[in-house]
Amino acid sequence: MTLCSICGKEKAVIKIPYEGKYLCKKCFKKYFVEKAEKTLKKANVFSNSSGKLFVVATSGGKDSLNALYVMKTLSKKYGFDVEALLINEGISGYREFTIKALIKVANRLNVPYRIVDVKKHFGFTIDEAAKLFFEGKIEWKPCTVCGVIRRYLLNKVSREMGASYLVTGHNLDDDLQTAVMNLIRGDFQALIRGGVVVKAEHPKLVPRVRPLHYIYEKESLIHSIITELETPYVECSYAPYSLRWNIRELLNKLEAVESGFKYRLMVKIDDLRERFSKYKVQKFTECRLCGEPSAKEICKACEIKLRIMKVLENA
Ligand SMILES: [Zn+2]
Ligand SMILES: [Zn+2]
Repeated sequence: MTLCSICGKEKAVIKIPYEGKYLCKKCFKKYFVEKAEKTLKKANVFSNSSGKLFVVATSGGKDSLNALYVMKTLSKKYGFDVEALLINEGISGYREFTIKALIKVANRLNVPYRIVDVKKHFGFTIDEAAKLFFEGKIEWKPCTVCGVIRRYLLNKVSREMGASYLVTGHNLDDDLQTAVMNLIRGDFQALIRGGVVVKAEHPKLVPRVRPLHYIYEKESLIHSIITELETPYVECSYAPYSLRWNIRELLNKLEAVESGFKYRLMVKIDDLRERFSKYKVQKFTECRLCGEPSAKEICKACEIKLRIMKVLENA
């Protein structure tokens, strides 16, 4: 039996790969919140946070529920408010379970929550968009459509809720996969926009923060279990159709060979971001159709919506 490196009394339940520490349940719980707090503090998120609203984008999965738990815990110390926001994409066999998980945890933590339907806003569900992709009627993969629409609604609705920050549950694995994907695509601008805080580059954009940016997916999973943030182990059925899926496998293989690899690479990429942030090209305007911030005359969400509605009308 390995004993906890911090208290030296309890049985260790997890190894922190980049610190070479073994932690027991109790010490890990404390470590988890402190790690997130340190991450946000370093990024200056708490310097003026008293009385402000942090809206946590909760999918109902382990990471976003952990983010909700962490923010609620820290809200007492720093005096800010926390609310949860869930986008219901209409993905059957997945979303109905995670909605239940969110409601249960939000009630337990005493956090108000809001659920927004994609179908109501856009006229179609992600299931319907996926069907069109598999039939060859649209060129966007389900994850592309879902990503664009989720980002769009999270920003719009959290802004309407009065959020100073939009908190997401992206863990180290998520953010590293995204960074590697952006490198592969040669999308330098997207690469330098990542990190712990994504600043608002337009008055209608809500700044985004990621408290779990330096927390491994495995740590996030264990934390959700020991804090009893019950969430079903359902993976979105469209995930294997993404490039992300393959990058994830690759990074996990590298981590297995070299413990702490993912953490060290993340730190290096963040350092790169800092140094190259001055090369950020700001080119946000407002979409001619919906008025939301957009890089082009018509935003991606409206572009997708128009195409899908046209295909559905002609069907
Ligand atoms: Zn301990
Ligand atoms: Zn638009």
